[in-house]
Amino acid sequence: MSRLFAVSNRVADPVGGKTAGGLAIGLLAALKQHGGVWFGWGGKTRQGDPSDPTIVRRGNISYATIDLFEADYDDYYNGYSNTSLWPLCHYMLGFFRYERRFSEAYRRVNALFARKMLPLLEDDDVIWVHDYHLIPLAAELRRAGVSNPIGFFMHVPFPNIDVLRTLPDHLDILRALTRYDVIGFQTHNDVRSFTEGLAREGLLQARLDDGRFRADGREITVKAFPIGIDVDGVIRMASRSVSSATVSRTVEGLHGRGFILGVDRLDYSKGLPERFRAFEQLLARYPETRNRLIFMQIAPPTRTGVRAYQDIRRELEQAAGHINGHYAEPDWVPIRYLNRGFSRSILMGLLRAANIGLVTPLRDGMNLVAKEFVAAQDPENPGALVLSTLAGAAIELDEAVIVNPYDSEGTAEAIQQAANMPLGERRERHASMIATLRRNDIDAWRTQFVDALLQSGG
Ligand code: ADP
Repeated sequence: MSRLFAVSNRVADPVGGKTAGGLAIGLLAALKQHGGVWFGWGGKTRQGDPSDPTIVRRGNISYATIDLFEADYDDYYNGYSNTSLWPLCHYMLGFFRYERRFSEAYRRVNALFARKMLPLLEDDDVIWVHDYHLIPLAAELRRAGVSNPIGFFMHVPFPNIDVLRTLPDHLDILRALTRYDVIGFQTHNDVRSFTEGLAREGLLQARLDDGRFRADGREITVKAFPIGIDVDGVIRMASRSVSSATVSRTVEGLHGRGFILGVDRLDYSKGLPERFRAFEQLLARYPETRNRLIFMQIAPPTRTGVRAYQDIRRELEQAAGHINGHYAEPDWVPIRYLNRGFSRSILMGLLRAANIGLVTPLRDGMNLVAKEFVAAQDPENPGALVLSTLAGAAIELDEAVIVNPYDSEGTAEAIQQAANMPLGERRERHASMIATLRRNDIDAWRTQFVDALLQSGG
């Protein structure tokens, strides 16, 4: 069996710290099953040339981490990755900024990754690169003579070419992707956006069979591999944690009121201000919900070096304060806004305890919280999921109550529908969604991708 060599910007904390982010959660679950190497940035910067990777082995995974040049970090990570590519991929051009120095740092960091990886690579390694921070990595590795199969998985959406063209060096991005053997996306929409982009820019020579294409002189496989979750792992953790002290106390504190829960990184793509407005609409339009429902939003800060993330934090604090100030009673505060992270186990227990999962991103590649909410439920008395049509997960979880997150009134109606959904309907919807989650679980995701990579003949 070939060794799996996974690469992403950050690696999960090998000693089991708090991890927030779909990539880390998904890839860790996949690597635990297969074993292998996980290479990435360790979170530190330095002024001189970064030294050799630090390698820590835990179970069947070797975590190899490097430092970054201090001078490049900001432009690579906060700049090109999270102020240029992230808003572009999420169709949120109001947040898009570009500077040439961002793009230069992005290329330098990718070249550094390639240089530091080379001594660790073995001949039969299968290399699997993750996400938008590392698009040019295959090109750098090929330049250094690496001929192993190299796959790329994009965890975020891939924008339509008319949006992608906003990026001055978008052609470099498209070309760099054609240096991979297999390019995986979350949905067929993303596959279409990418292949249409190649065609419109004159980089697509032929459509072959079974997801294969000839592009920029190479044969590539382009397919959708919707990322899944470790369904039984979530069920076990949620069932155990629901009776933990923290979760039990939370449930007691509800005094029988309905419990609506949102769990997201604090990111403008997650639609949190719109979600708060929808909850306010609910209280305004359906007075019977007042003092009957509690909305808890967990949103730990991320990417605090990017201005837009500081702004959204302030905006949400104000919105929660405003709604609570207006509607709270001496014995009831409508919104509990928790601006910090929790252990995965507590999160899964809270998801199980919730009556309604509110997952309303303005755009999301997949959204694992939606899947975790479904898996965490008690099948005998499951909660209802309210899910954005603009999340990749809505394609598989079509038995959720689907909303357009920009439509606050529509989302308020959906919450009301979820709050009043009869037990039989909740059970049916849950059974159908859990069957889908089992079919497309994390094991299927990893196996299908790696098989495609082994078959690519790269
Ligand atoms: P994204 O990758 O954009 O953050 P996803 O919903 O796909 O969005 O993935 C988020 C992952 O991070 C989920 O597995 C979720 O359980 C986890 N997560 C989110 N918030 C926290 C937190 N506060 N503590 C620990 N894990 C978290």
